[in-house]
Amino acid sequence: MSLSSLFAPDAIRTDSSDPIHSYGNSMAGIMPPDFALTSTASANLSTSDYLSKIKTILQNSPTGRTAVHHFDAMNSGFYKKDGKCLGIEIAPGLPSEYSAPKITLDGNEAIEEMALTFVHEVNHAWYDFMGKTAEAKGMKKQDYIDKCIYEEAEGAWLAIEAKLELKGSEHDNEKLTHPQDERYLQEYDRVFVEEKKKGKDERTADENARRAARAFILKGFHDGVVGCDDGSGNIVSYTQYYGDIWLSENHP
Ligand SMILES: [Zn+2]
Repeated sequence: MSLSSLFAPDAIRTDSSDPIHSYGNSMAGIMPPDFALTSTASANLSTSDYLSKIKTILQNSPTGRTAVHHFDAMNSGFYKKDGKCLGIEIAPGLPSEYSAPKITLDGNEAIEEMALTFVHEVNHAWYDFMGKTAEAKGMKKQDYIDKCIYEEAEGAWLAIEAKLELKGSEHDNEKLTHPQDERYLQEYDRVFVEEKKKGKDERTADENARRAARAFILKGFHDGVVGCDDGSGNIVSYTQYYGDIWLSENHP
C-alpha cells in the first residue's frame, strides 16, 4: 500500500498503531492493521528473535534507544505494575497493542515497521507502569479524552521521530513507514524554513519545528484527521472513541 492511498484527502484516516491499550477485553478485536500488508513474516521466528532484530534497528535512533531502555526496565522487573513485569509476545496475526501488562506485536509486519510499532506500544506501557494512564472513573469526560489522546499522539510522534532518525541508516527502506510521517514532516519543514528566515540558528529552528510538528499531530487526533475502529468496523474519531469508553465506565 502506498502512502498516498493512506493519505487520501478528506478521508478519515486510521492510525496504524493500536487504538486500544489497557481497556481489557471490552474493546478487543478492533485493531486495524491498515498498513501492515507487506508480509515479510518469517513464520519460525520466536519472540526473542523478533525482539533482538527490533532492538538492533532501534539502536540507530536516540528515540528508539530510549524506548528499548524503558522496555528493558519494565521487562526485567526493575519497574513493575501490580507486582508484574512487562511481557511481550510477537507472532504473525497477533494484534499490535499494549494490554496490561503485556505488549503484543503482529509478526506479519515488516521488521522495520514492527520496530516503530514497538516504540509506540512501549510508550503506552511506560504510561501505565508510571501510573500516568488516564482512568475514566472519577475523571471529567473532557479531561479523560484529552489525556488519552495526548498519550496516543505522543506514541505516534515518538514512532515518527524514530523513523526520521533512522533515515540514512541501513534500515532505511520503503517499509520504514508510519501513517502520519508525511503530515509530521510537512509541518516540520514549514516551521523550520520559517524559523531560519527569522534568523534562528539550526538547533533552535529544529527544536521549534519539532514542537510544532508534535502539536500538529496532536491536533490531528483531536480534529478527527486520524480515527480508529470503534469495534464494529466503523471508523470514529478518537474523541468519540474515548468519550464512549468514558461513558461505559461512568454510566454503564
Ligand atoms: Zn496507541
